[in-house]
Amino acid sequence: MISKNHAILKRFHKDVATLKAHHWKHFFDLYHSCSHNCVYCLYRQDENFGKCIPIPGVTADKIATELDNIKSAGITYLGATSDVYQPMEKRLQLVRPVLKMFTEKQLPLILATKSMLIRRDIDLLSRLAADGLVEVSISIITLDESFAKLLEPGAPSPSKRVSLARELISSGIPVSFHVAPFIPGYFNDAVLRQFIYSLRDTKATGVYSCILGMRSAYKEEPFLFL
Ligand code: SF4
Repeated sequence: MISKNHAILKRFHKDVATLKAHHWKHFFDLYHSCSHNCVYCLYRQDENFGKCIPIPGVTADKIATELDNIKSAGITYLGATSDVYQPMEKRLQLVRPVLKMFTEKQLPLILATKSMLIRRDIDLLSRLAADGLVEVSISIITLDESFAKLLEPGAPSPSKRVSLARELISSGIPVSFHVAPFIPGYFNDAVLRQFIYSLRDTKATGVYSCILGMRSAYKEEPFLFL
């Protein structure tokens, strides 16, 4: 949903349910679609799925102007529908100016990623973290490398993501784990407990989750690999 006055920033809370579920207020993306290619992705029906295309006209300056026009910006979510650390980001470097802008404006930010490329920006993220302005959310649904390869064929392995969490945390950057979606029937109590304990051992600030919500055309696919 695009608000009347903001072309880039979008409001997250459409209703009371989403307001209760999330603590961020606005979100924006730098890329359209995502090369991680997850079979459970809500955006699979998009014709560009898996390609990853920079969204035209989204710049740090324009986002800054939109943020200036908001009375109370709250927490902004960067990359809600496409991981901002795409392979292409290595060359385009769209994220750094955004992080610098949030540092200068002293505004809080959350970003979710599965990508190792975030390591490039540890310096800026550490600066934001020193002012309590950032949380990195690492998306992970399992520690089983083969299961993850089937469900998230373009993403780094779970063990790399756990190492990434440790590296960010040791640089003073708060990390949470986004265990989402929860694949129904995949975990039993013991396996789930072991999984959460392993994530906790990284000293992450928390784990949050959401249920699997598939578009009807793909609704069976995550279950083919169980
Ligand atoms: S990382 Fe997220 S946005 Fe990217 S393909 Fe996977 S589920 Fe979709």
